[in-house]
Amino acid sequence: MNQRRDAVLREMGLAPLWRLRGTSQALQGDAPEAVPEEPAAVAPSAREAGIVSARERQASHRPQPVPAPPPARIAVAPAADSSDERAGRIETLDWEALEADIRACTACRLCERRRQAVPGVGDRQADWMFVGEGPGAEEDQRGEPFVGVAGKLLDAMLAAIGLNRGEGVYIANAVKCRPPHNRTPGNDEIEACAPYLARQIALVQPRLLVALGRPAARALLGVDVAIGAARGQAFRYRGTPVVVTYHPAYLLRNQRDKAKVWEDLCFARELMEKTTTG
Ligand code: URA
Repeated sequence: MNQRRDAVLREMGLAPLWRLRGTSQALQGDAPEAVPEEPAAVAPSAREAGIVSARERQASHRPQPVPAPPPARIAVAPAADSSDERAGRIETLDWEALEADIRACTACRLCERRRQAVPGVGDRQADWMFVGEGPGAEEDQRGEPFVGVAGKLLDAMLAAIGLNRGEGVYIANAVKCRPPHNRTPGNDEIEACAPYLARQIALVQPRLLVALGRPAARALLGVDVAIGAARGQAFRYRGTPVVVTYHPAYLLRNQRDKAKVWEDLCFARELMEKTTTG
């Protein structure tokens, strides 16, 4: 596995990317097309928010969760039908109807400036589901998530743990329409898109979810978490384990954190192995 992973990364010019601490950093790349998120300084860990199921490994080197008051609830997005009605309707959609609904959605202001909505891509019976933030310029143009620079890094991340986007992996975003100027989606926009993500997850039934960055973590956990505090913990989304890590676009600009992402992916893989063996 290690040899294969190293070969894949070498092939892509990313070999030093996933070496654990103390190695040189050699990833070259254009600026990411998505705005990288910074970990919040004092956001609560999700454990403190009452949604952590278990810490699965020793993590004495990790930052300790910072006590903080419970986060504010997400604002309800404006929508043509009541949000309950809309969520109930989306819950019944099959894949084709779901994608058509996403493409026609006007539930939040992101619809105004999109070229097209970007539902998701990959194996619809995947064990792994990766959730990003939202489409960037290239995704908006091509209608597929993670096809720009950050997407190439995501592909390398997948390859590093023996995965690829076509097989056993489904990729979606917290919001399906490109936020103007690649700004971070607002909580109201994440909330407006939440029924779509929920339906995608219900249809795929992944065994593990990986949240890439804070907006994705927000979408899955319903609260704001600092990635630095939340990583290394197993959360749950409606019973499915969730692992949180940095977004690839953030990683492109903060290469010191590459080893952390590698650790997080290994943690995710361990969790997946545990769900397989019971
Ligand atoms: N960043 C994301 O979060 N999603 C994409 O699809 C592309 C870039």
